[in-house]
This record gives sequence, structure tokens and C-alpha cells, in this order.
Amino acid sequence: MDKTASARSGHSLPPSLWADTAPAFPAQPALSGAARCDVAIIGGGFTGLRCALALAEAGVSVRVLEARDIGYGASGRSGGQVNPILRKTVEAVRLEVGPRIGDTLVRLTLSSATDLFRDIEHYGIDCDPVQKGWLQVAHSPAMLHKLQGLRDSWTAAGGDIAQLDAAEVQDWSGAQGYVGGLYHPTAGHVQPLSLVRGLARAALVRGAVIHERSPITTLDRAEGGRWHLATATGGQLSAERVVLATNGYTDRLWPGLRATILPFVSIQAATEPLTPAQRAAILPRGTTIADTRRSIIYGRYDRDFRLSIGCMGSFPENPEALGAFGRLRRGVERTFPALRGIAWERKWGGYIALTTDALPHLHEPAPGLYIGLGFNGRGVAMASVMGRALAAALLGVDRADLPFPVTPLKAVPLHRLLNAILPAAPPLMALADRLDNWRG
Ligand SMILES: Cc1cc2nc3c(=O)[nH]c(=O)nc-3n(C[C@H](O)[C@H](O)[C@H](O)COP(=O)(O)OP(=O)(O)OC[C@H]3O[C@@H](n4cnc5c(N)ncnc54)[C@H](O)[C@@H]3O)c2cc1C
Repeated sequence: MDKTASARSGHSLPPSLWADTAPAFPAQPALSGAARCDVAIIGGGFTGLRCALALAEAGVSVRVLEARDIGYGASGRSGGQVNPILRKTVEAVRLEVGPRIGDTLVRLTLSSATDLFRDIEHYGIDCDPVQKGWLQVAHSPAMLHKLQGLRDSWTAAGGDIAQLDAAEVQDWSGAQGYVGGLYHPTAGHVQPLSLVRGLARAALVRGAVIHERSPITTLDRAEGGRWHLATATGGQLSAERVVLATNGYTDRLWPGLRATILPFVSIQAATEPLTPAQRAAILPRGTTIADTRRSIIYGRYDRDFRLSIGCMGSFPENPEALGAFGRLRRGVERTFPALRGIAWERKWGGYIALTTDALPHLHEPAPGLYIGLGFNGRGVAMASVMGRALAAALLGVDRADLPFPVTPLKAVPLHRLLNAILPAAPPLMALADRLDNWRG
């Protein structure tokens, strides 16, 4: 592996396949002294940087504040699967957000993968993009029925989604134990840390300023309506407007925001590069795969044919904790028997943000403070939609023309309790998945 690629003094990214293979990115200065800008964006992941890029292109003076390094959150740790569909039917989406915004959301969701691949080309981002489709596979007849419902609904709205029977799933993936599934041809995968660094580079070139190692600890509306942001080490920023793009890494900076999401953990592990014979048997068409288990198994190749595979875990910095990696390894070996005994070179994890309605949320809880989060594990494509939507809102686009309704902050019921027991959820989810199979 190219261990020098991301090496730079003091970088705080956790060890991962992506940190080892992404192009280097120059360290950006921490916020120090006093500065001013039009828009301050808190969070240096896909959402914050796509928003910064759109604003910088529109001539807005914008600064991104990232607590650690660019891509430190989920964006630099993700599976990199670019998946263009939400977890609900089109009818349920329209019911939840209303017909006008619902139609915009459905349209932009369906084009989200292709839009992202176009962005990558347009901005010349070096992130190993592959658009060969996604196999969304069912582990039980009930889930196959649900997938078929999703397909019917999204196809009627213009989506390009094929249905596969069990034999086709096995033929296309080499995976055992699935009863059927869907194929989404516009989907694909990217090297996620390379993508987030590429977005940062594109924003910098267009005039955005990025501050790393700059955790914002104070966010207040000052006299005259401007916002005052500060770091614990004395950095001060005065901004006309603010965007919060902290997703699963949301802290207590803005009261009540953390309680609107459940920060689940997803873990990843990468194999050594597979042999040509293994590659011919596993995902031979270069698609990605993700199944319908509650504890989910999802995977794809990297550019050197390592399989990067993930599932739900309990602690982001300890993928082994509560047996998470063991469950992943056993699940992978059941699904792809050819991988029994394979060496796992890297293990890592990160936070995703789940919402109770399974949709991303856009808020404006105070004048000039915009928030976009809650990608439910589908943020590689959807965070880009959100980043552009946040920029559109800041540039004055009518709320009715945005792809998300602007909603008040709403706490997840029993949030404190649920948050406390979240680490125990993945083992229980895995157990429930096994019961589905026994039930047939
Ligand atoms: C292991 C894993 C696998 C995944 N796989 C996929 C996948 O295959 N496909 C898919 O679509 N999605 C996937 N996801 C989800 C996807 O990565 C996220 O939805 C997406 O990256 C969210 O981007 P974001 O910019 O909103 O948030 P993040 O990338 O999480 O960025 C938030 C940033 O905010 C910073 N921050 C927080 N508080 C402060 C503060 N006070 N001051 C300054 N900065 C702050 C954090 O340091 C962090 O860097 C995965 C996630 C994980 C963890």
C-alpha cells in the first residue's frame, strides 16, 4: 500500500484503506485571530464542501471549519457506494414532504449518482470513479417483496431499475443466500477520501478558505444579526450566515440538534487484493452490493481489487468491539465462501446519522443558520444533493423549489435512552436477521 499518499504532519484521520490510497492533501491552517466572511460552514465532509464549492462558484466569501482534518467524519471513511435511491417509496416521500418538494427530491435523488459522476469529471477529481451499477439484494422473501415495491414505485417515477431473480443475483455477484434483488445501473463507487479531498481542492481553487483542526465551540448570533463563531484556542470568525454540516459527528454546539438523529456506527474492513480467479467469482461485473439485512452487508472493490466490505458496528474507533468485525467476517464468509481465510488488511468505522422518517433533514432554526444532515447511510450521493440545496437556499432560491422541506428541529423520542443503548443494537439486529432466514 502507498502509505505515504496521505502522510502529513499531525493528520488525524483514522487508519483506513482510503487514508492509505488517497492523493495527499495539503494541511490547511487552523482558524486563528479574527476573521470575517459571508458564510461559515461547520463540517468538512461531502455536505459542507459541496456547499462551499457551489457558494465559492457564485462569488460568495466562504470559510469551512473542520474540527479535525478534511474527510475526518463519515465522508473519508465511507464505503464510497454512490446509491441513487431513498429507503422509502416515492408515494411515501411525497406524503412526508408534500407533492411539490417531493417531486423535486425524487427527481434529484434519481439523478444523484449521475450528477455526482458528472461533478467528478467536471472538477477533474481524482477519486477512482466507477459507474457500473449496484446490486441491492434481498436476504428474505419479505424483503424481496419490499424491494419489488420500491422498484415499482421508483420506476414509475422515471427510475432505471431492473429486477433480478435469485439465480441472476448469484450469477452477477457470486453471493450465496439471496432470494433476489434489484440492479441500479446508474450507481457506482468512488474512493471517498479522494472525493472529499477533491471537493476541498475545487473549493479552494475557487476562493473558499478551509480551516482544519478548528473545532467550533461557540456559535452565537451577535448584535446586528451577524454570527460569531469561536474555537477554544482563540480563533474568532464573524459571518453573515452559517451552515452546519456535521451529520453523525454532530456535537452539542447547537442546542437540540444532536437529539434529531441517531448516530449509528458502520464498520468497514478491506481484504488483501483478490486474485484474478477470486475476482471472476466475486462481483465479476465490478458492481457494488448491499443487502437488506438490518445489520447490512455492503461491499465493492477498490482500484487494486481489494474488497472493502462493511456492516453495522458498535464503536467507530474499535471495529472489533462487541464482536462486530467477527460478525462481519462470518457474514462475508457465508456470503462469499471463496473468501474463507482471506487476510483482512484494514478495519475502521465511523458514524452515520439515522432519522426517524429515513429522509435527510434541512433546518433553519434561527435566521441565517442552515443545517443539512441525516443521510441514513446513503450520503455519498445525497450529501451532494444537500450541499447544493443548502447553497441554493443561501443564494435565495425559494423554499418551495428546494428538494427538502425546511423543518423545525424535532427530537427523536427517547433519544437519550436510545443513544445510550445504540452500541448493543447491531448484535441484536444480526440476530433478528438470522431469525428471518430460519423463518424462510
Ligand atoms: C463506515 C461508513 C460507511 C459508509 N458507507 C456509505 C456508502 O457506501 N454509501 C453512502 O452513500 N453512504 C455511506 N456512508 C454514509 C456517508 O459517508 C455519510 O452520509 C456522508 O459522508 C455524510 O457526509 P457529511 O459531510 O454530511 O458528514 P461527515 O462526513 O460525517 O462530516 C461531518 C464533519 O463535521 C465535523 N464536525 C463536527 N462537529 C464540528 C464542530 N463543532 N466544529 C467543526 N467541525 C465539526 C466532523 O469532524 C466531521 O468531519 C458510510 C458511513 C460510514 C461511517
